[in-house]
Amino acid sequence: MNTTTVKELVLAAGADLCGIAPVDRFASAPDGFRPTDLFPDAKSVIVFAKKIPASVFQTQSDIPYSFVDEIALHEVLRLSLDIAVRLETEHIAALPVPSEPYEYWDKESMTGRGLMSLKHAGYLAGLGVIGRNTLLCTPEYGNLIKLGALLADVELEPDPVLENKLCSDKCNLCTSGCPSGALTNGAVDQKKCRTWSEGATEKGAPIIVCYNCRRVCPNRAGWKTVAM
Ligand code: SF4
Ligand code: SF4
Repeated sequence: MNTTTVKELVLAAGADLCGIAPVDRFASAPDGFRPTDLFPDAKSVIVFAKKIPASVFQTQSDIPYSFVDEIALHEVLRLSLDIAVRLETEHIAALPVPSEPYEYWDKESMTGRGLMSLKHAGYLAGLGVIGRNTLLCTPEYGNLIKLGALLADVELEPDPVLENKLCSDKCNLCTSGCPSGALTNGAVDQKKCRTWSEGATEKGAPIIVCYNCRRVCPNRAGWKTVAM
């Protein structure tokens, strides 16, 4: 199976975007969070994205966004399972890398880390660039995506890393619009963000009550598709 047929398989399974990064692009990732730390046979990282609908920003209710976020997470997990099984029939070992749950958790700072940073993997696989809001922003769908990834034991043709100065010097919509002050210098303070954004309905169902950094970005639906 070549790179083209691998990508066709990923897209046919239901992904909307797919990119490839060789494992050596992850050399500067933290110890323990590189692809080969997780899967020593890994040679390529297959990163894919599932689009989420922009209509979640056209309501004042937080429930549609919360629902979409949860279902999209399950969808990318299901896709990574399907893709791994299909690749195995082609004699390619591919390890699904879920973004959650976290194995690393610092209780004091409420900081979690997935097995591997999928947004950095998406950047390294040429899917998009990371904005000042710390979200991966793709040319096609902006930040309205959910990411999945697999580690494959075959060398695939890498995609070029995209370059774009997404965040102009003048734009501070995400940082100034963050009610918790969690966004500084292109990093997010997870404790501040979680404390503000993780809420619940009156009945106690968990919902996401802040996603303003996603909502206010002029590139949220694709690079420069929304006027600043
Ligand atoms: S989700 Fe809300 S609180 Fe968290 S970083 Fe974004 S704007 Fe700030
Ligand atoms: S709101 Fe502005 S500064 Fe923030 S990520 Fe989007 S373009 Fe960059």
